Amino acid sequence: MIMNGKKGVILGVANDKSIAYGIAKSCAEQGAKVAFTYLNDSLKKRVVPIAEEFGSGDLVYPCDVSNPQEIKDLCESLKRDLGEIDFVVHSIAFAPKEGLSGRFMDISKQAFDIAMDVSVFSLIEITKELKPIMSDNCSILTLSYYGGAKYIPNYNLMGVAKAALEMTVKYLAEDLGKDGIRVNAISAGPIKTLAAAGISDFRFMLKWNEAHSPLKKNVTIDEVGNSGMYLLSNLSSAVTGEIHYVDSGYNIMGMPAVKFDENGKPKIAWDGNN
Ligand code: NAD
Repeated sequence: MIMNGKKGVILGVANDKSIAYGIAKSCAEQGAKVAFTYLNDSLKKRVVPIAEEFGSGDLVYPCDVSNPQEIKDLCESLKRDLGEIDFVVHSIAFAPKEGLSGRFMDISKQAFDIAMDVSVFSLIEITKELKPIMSDNCSILTLSYYGGAKYIPNYNLMGVAKAALEMTVKYLAEDLGKDGIRVNAISAGPIKTLAAAGISDFRFMLKWNEAHSPLKKNVTIDEVGNSGMYLLSNLSSAVTGEIHYVDSGYNIMGMPAVKFDENGKPKIAWDGNN
């Protein structure tokens, strides 16, 4: 199996709809030992049974990334229970509600700072704190979205955070390359998860992506999970600093496919009503 003998930690499972769950499933199926973290006590109740499902009931730790001490404590726990780690998954993002709708220029500094801290700086801090226990071909993976590369309605503050996250991946990849450690991101197509529920008109995004992607379908957490597992495995040993799209090809589209009516007039393939 592809991940036999590999040990790692996945941050960001909230429930079995989470993208992190899809990545954990694929890694565990391929023989990896996976440790999990949870944000708070109410999510702990959901994460513990998931860890048990993957034979990791004894590898579940608290980690609110806005609390630097919890990241340090996580490192100590992983060192004690796993020794070295071969992969780290950062599947975490948060922006206050005000940053995900309305006028972009109205975003407050407070909301901006929170989003950047939880969604971007946490990747740097986790990398730095866990570095001493990373094996010398460790792979780090984070999750981005197309709204960090191009304008997407309502994605607003999170778009800016994802742009910063994608550049953080590249700068970390260069910095850690000398240690043999790889850093990549998956830019996933829209998927209905807890985090996605915070974005206004998310159902419209799903329909739009399905209608206008080359594969004419939305992606699943299993598909993102399998691509994530590849980036965490030795199969991708020469891949670093990459923003890998797992989005049914949506990002390559310059304009929606156009059909013509009986009078030869163009009409867009999907008008939002079907
Ligand atoms: P999710 O709600 O299942 O996962 C988000 C996770 O972030 C949760 O587990 C939550 O507990 C965690 N989190 C939030 N604040 C935290 C904090 N302070 N400390 C520790 N953990 C914290 O939703 P998801 O869609 O699986 O999101 C995972 C990642 O995928 C996010 O980075 C998201 O932006 C990204 N992403 C999602 C989509 C999508 O459409 N769902 C698409 C592309 C990228």
